[in-house]
Amino acid sequence: MSISDNIQNIKTQIGENCTLIAVSKTYPAETIIQAYNAGQRVFGENRVQELLSKKDLLPQDIQWHLIGHLQSNKIKYIIDFVSLIHSVDSEKLLQAIDKEASKISTIMPCLLQIYIADEETKFGLDETELYHILDNLNQYKHIQIAGVMGMATNTTDQEKIKSEFNFLSNLYNKVKTKYFPNETAFKHLSMGMSSDYKLAVACGSNMIRVGSLIFSMKD
Ligand SMILES: *Cc1c(COP(=O)(O)O)cnc(C)c1O
Repeated sequence: MSISDNIQNIKTQIGENCTLIAVSKTYPAETIIQAYNAGQRVFGENRVQELLSKKDLLPQDIQWHLIGHLQSNKIKYIIDFVSLIHSVDSEKLLQAIDKEASKISTIMPCLLQIYIADEETKFGLDETELYHILDNLNQYKHIQIAGVMGMATNTTDQEKIKSEFNFLSNLYNKVKTKYFPNETAFKHLSMGMSSDYKLAVACGSNMIRVGSLIFSMKD
């Protein structure tokens, strides 16, 4: 199976209404270009330094998504070219992104990362923090909240993963109805990775972040 085959297989399974983010972290530019040549244009990276070192080696029309935990002092390096930040996991970070975006007079599309896993290592907002941000949205003049993101527990227990995805899916719908009823820009439910994307899509995901299933060549 080639990278191109892997992408085609996943795309066939998820259908047209779900966006595939090719997570290229840890893979070199020579590997990433194979996905690009297969038509893939949206890529996800989780570390700023790594993203910066690779992006200039790759075509300019790639849409880069930042999917991993972001430190406030790194925002300024990515704000002018990243097309979506998936990993807003604190109010402080959102304020810092707003400030950097205002400096270059842009509006940064962001997803609010919600803590749904049963693991201490994962980042994300709890519901109290989420609603605090949403109730104070008018303070962010340079942010566009474009949806929510979450990562399920790393487990083989399908029922557990399913209940976490259903929780996030319901939360996404609730937030959309209450805070963004007429805003078409609030539209992304980013959930699902290599091991659980089928379940995620069945639970309503419309944006999956898949790395190893595309790029790691085992046969
Ligand atoms: C690495 C990563 C992924 C992709 O994981 P795979 O298991 O390789 O598909 C998705 N989302 C985030 C936030 C990641 O860091």
